[in-house]
Amino acid sequence: MQSTSKTKFKKDKYRQARGGYSRFLEVSCHHCDKVILIYQKDGPGELKRMYLDRIIAPESLVTLQTLPISKVSELVCPKCKYILAIAYVYPKEKRNAFRLFVGAVNKKVTKLK
Ligand SMILES: [Zn+2]
Repeated sequence: MQSTSKTKFKKDKYRQARGGYSRFLEVSCHHCDKVILIYQKDGPGELKRMYLDRIIAPESLVTLQTLPISKVSELVCPKCKYILAIAYVYPKEKRNAFRLFVGAVNKKVTKLK
């Protein structure tokens, strides 16, 4: 999957709060292996939620960060239609995010082209 935006890590207060360490993850559907998006993960730990402002590709999902959370629908696999995550506001930081269902996606560390 090609990134349409900048290929550098986003650096902001959220990244700093997580130790300033980031990597890109290729997130794919656990059920059918379709690649769903590229995500910048900040800091260590499990991927339990995906902040909308950390989605790097594709453009159709990147644009979600500009919408109010009420306009963001569930994250559905475009291939097998399985619901992977639910849009919500992460209360601690008031950041729009997708809360992933347990075991819904596979992750692997990737490099951007
Ligand atoms: Zn799928």
